[in-house]
Amino acid sequence: MADEANRIVLLGAPGSGKGTQAALLADALGIPAVSTGEMLRAAVAEGSKLGRRIESVMNSGDLVDNETMATVVRERLAKADAAKGFLLDGYPRTLGQAATLESILDDTETSLDMVIQVEVPEAEIVRRALDRQREDDTEEVIKNRLRVYEKKTAPLTDHYMELGLLQTVDGNHSVDEVQEAMRAALGVTV
Ligand code: AMP
Repeated sequence: MADEANRIVLLGAPGSGKGTQAALLADALGIPAVSTGEMLRAAVAEGSKLGRRIESVMNSGDLVDNETMATVVRERLAKADAAKGFLLDGYPRTLGQAATLESILDDTETSLDMVIQVEVPEAEIVRRALDRQREDDTEEVIKNRLRVYEKKTAPLTDHYMELGLLQTVDGNHSVDEVQEAMRAALGVTV
C-alpha cells in the first residue's frame, strides 16, 4: 500500500470497541483519529451554539442531522493534520453521510482507501454497551442507539463492499489481537 493511502473509515456497532482501536491505529499510522461522537460531546460540554442545538438529540441516542454533520466533518478534514490521511470513527453513519463524505473528498481530489468493519456478536455488543454505560445513559437510550445503528448504519457495509473498500475484522478478541488484525488488513507493520 502506498504511504499516503491512509484515508480510512472504521465501522462497528456502539460497543464494538472501535473507538479504542481507532486511537491505537491512528497513533501507529501517524494520522488523526477523527471521532465525531467525541467532537459533538466536546461541543455539548463547552455549551457552544452547536452544542446547545444538538444536546437533546445526542442524549436520546438519535442521530444529529446530516447537514450539521457535513459541516463538522468538512471543517475537521480541512485541517492540516488530516491532509495525509485520517481515521474516521463514527462517520459516516448513514448512506446519505457516505455520499457527503465522497463529495467532501472529491473536492480535494482524494477518496477513501479503506473501510474496516469491526464485527462483534450482538449479545456481546449489548453486554459491552451496558457495561460502559455513560452516566446519563439509560438502558432505553442504549437500546435506541443499537436500533439506530441496525437501521441506518448497517447498510453501509454493503455500500462499501460494493465499492471494494471493505475489510472485516473479528472484534471479539483482546484489544491487542484486534489491533493486530486491523494492521494486517492495512498491510501495516509497526
Ligand atoms: P458515538 O460516540 O460515535 O457513539 O456518538 C455519540 C452520539 O453522537 C450519537 O449517538 C449521535 O447522537 C451523535 N453522532 C456521532 N456521530 C454522528 C454522525 N456521524 N451522525 C449523526 N450523529 C452522530
